[in-house]
Amino acid sequence: MKAAVLFEPKQPLTIEDVTVSNPAPHEVLIRTVAVGVCRSDLHFVDGIYPHALPTIPGHEAAGVVEAVGSEVRTVKVGDHVVTCLSAFCGQCEFCVTGRMFLCIDAGVRRPKGAPPRLTLGDQPVAQMLNLSAYAEMMLVHEHACVAIDRDMPMDRAALIGCAVTTGAGAVFNTTDVTPGETVCVVGCGGIGLAAVNAARIAGAGKIIALDPVPEKRALAEKLGATHSIDALSPTAADEVVEITKGGVHHAIEAVGRPQSAATAVKVLRRGGTATILGMLPPSERVGLSAIDLLSGKKLQGGLMGSNRFPVDIPRLVDFYMRGALDLNAVIAERMPLERINHAFDELRKGDATRSVITFG
Ligand SMILES: [Zn+2]
Ligand SMILES: [Zn+2]
Repeated sequence: MKAAVLFEPKQPLTIEDVTVSNPAPHEVLIRTVAVGVCRSDLHFVDGIYPHALPTIPGHEAAGVVEAVGSEVRTVKVGDHVVTCLSAFCGQCEFCVTGRMFLCIDAGVRRPKGAPPRLTLGDQPVAQMLNLSAYAEMMLVHEHACVAIDRDMPMDRAALIGCAVTTGAGAVFNTTDVTPGETVCVVGCGGIGLAAVNAARIAGAGKIIALDPVPEKRALAEKLGATHSIDALSPTAADEVVEITKGGVHHAIEAVGRPQSAATAVKVLRRGGTATILGMLPPSERVGLSAIDLLSGKKLQGGLMGSNRFPVDIPRLVDFYMRGALDLNAVIAERMPLERINHAFDELRKGDATRSVITFG
C-alpha cells in the first residue's frame, strides 16, 4: 500500500510502498478515506518530540473497515469508522475508573517478538500513536476506532478523530461549562474552533476567541464566539477581563506556546480554571503565581479532551448531522497524499485551519 514515511526528522516525508500485516484476533484493517493534518504530527516531523523511525505519521482519520480479527465484535466489515489515538485496554486502573484517555497499556500494540503491523521491505515501520494514518490502510487495535453513521461525510468525520474530540471534549469533559458561564479560547485552529463551537452547544454566556489571524477570528464568530480579540494586542487579556467583568470561568488554550498558556491563566476570574490543550515543547513549564493560587485559580492539562471516544465520537457526529457542530467551514483544503509536505508547510506558516488528505 501507498504510505507517507518519515525517515529523518526535519526531512520531507516520502511516498513508499509499505506492507501491512493481516489482522490479529483483536485488530481491525481499515481502508483510509480521509485524514486531517494536525499540528501534533508536525511536532514529530520537525523533531520537537522524538519518535522511533522510520514511521508513518497521521492520527486524525476516517475510513471503512476492510477486515476484522477473529475476536472483534465492536465493528464489522463495511462499517464507516473514525479512529482515535486514545486506544484503551479496558482493564487497567485508568480504564476501569472511567479515564480511558489516560490508558498507556501495551495490550493495544503487538507484543514484543510478534511480526510488526507495518514493514518496508524487511524493515519494521514504527506505528505512530497506534494509528499511522497517512497510508491507504490502517491496521489498528479494535479499541482505537468506533463505527459512525454512514451518512456522515468522511472528510469531516476525520476531524472528529483528534481536533474536534480534543476541543469539544475540553468543554464537555475536562471542564464542565454550566449554561451562562464565560469561556475564553486562546488560539483558533482546528482544536480551538471546536472548543468555541462546543461552548456554544454547552450554553456558555460570553465566548471570547483570541487569535492573531483576522480570518480565524471571523470563523470563530461564525461558530459561536460572541467576541474576538487579536491575540497579539498587548491589551488582549485586559479586554477579556473587562468584557466579562472580572475574567472568565473557563479558559482553554489551544496553541501550545508558553505565552498563550500564560494568557489563559491571566484571563481567569477568581476561582476560574485554565485548561491547556496545546502541545508545548517538552522542556517548557506553565504555572500559577502566589496571587493566582490565593484567587483560587486552577490549571490543568486536557489530554485528548478527556475522551470516552466510543461514546463521544458518535455524539459529535450527531451534533454535526443536526447542524449544531459546524465542520464545513473548518476545512481549508483537501489534497492527495502526495501533497502531504505541502500541507505541513501550510501548517508551519500557521494560517491554514485544517488540511485534509483524501484518498480517491
Ligand atoms: Zn492531533
Ligand atoms: Zn487501560
